Amino acid sequence: MMSLSVQGMGMTSLRTRERMIKRLSEQGIKNKRLLEVMRDTPRHIFMDEALSSRAYEDTSLPIGYNQTISQPYIVAKMTELLLETHPLVGKVLEIGTGCGYQTAILAQLVDHVYSIERILPLHKKAQQDLWDLKHKNISYLYGDGHLGWPDYAPYDAIIATAAPVEIPPQLLQQLAIGGVMVLPLGAGQQNLQRITRTETGFDIEKLEAVTFVPFLTGKE
Ligand code: SAH
Repeated sequence: MMSLSVQGMGMTSLRTRERMIKRLSEQGIKNKRLLEVMRDTPRHIFMDEALSSRAYEDTSLPIGYNQTISQPYIVAKMTELLLETHPLVGKVLEIGTGCGYQTAILAQLVDHVYSIERILPLHKKAQQDLWDLKHKNISYLYGDGHLGWPDYAPYDAIIATAAPVEIPPQLLQQLAIGGVMVLPLGAGQQNLQRITRTETGFDIEKLEAVTFVPFLTGKE
């Protein structure tokens, strides 16, 4: 523990994070509040000690169990897409807690995050790390995101950080009218998509090409 905090000081300093924010701005991220939150959130806490020195590089990194923490640009882009439609988001449903970094960013920008993870050790570790960071407006479910979390529906926003081939119908049902869903979609070739629920149906915007781990069925 000692070695992490000491070693961490140089690599994970505010200056390193400020460089990350500058890069995100250059990549087109505009939301000031989001950039501040990403500057102030210690991404290195969410990863293995051996990788913490690379935490602020613009790359995805392994978090165990064949899963990855999304690259900072993708976290920023998805969050920005979500807030653009809905500047004052109340409840967000997140599928794929993973290490909890995206969850931490969301928790500082919305009222409450409901986050589902299907791999038990990831679910438990993220919960502990986010609690240690004093995030209290998050509820956690160990389960299969295909089912959503009906108890707290409808949600103002839904975000998935794993790619389904088709959008699970339960997730569409649990989106509020006027609500927005941001997710990667597709089998081989994936695209980021933003789906907005209207009074009469769903508007779909197909955005940039992305690479995410697959959205799987069941729990492990
Ligand atoms: N936002 C996370 C991304 C982790 S990778 C982070 O930055 O760490 C995607 C995560 O989605 C993995 O943890 C994976 O286990 C989870 N996942 C995949 N399919 C799922 C499903 N059907 N329900 C819940 N979680 C799922």
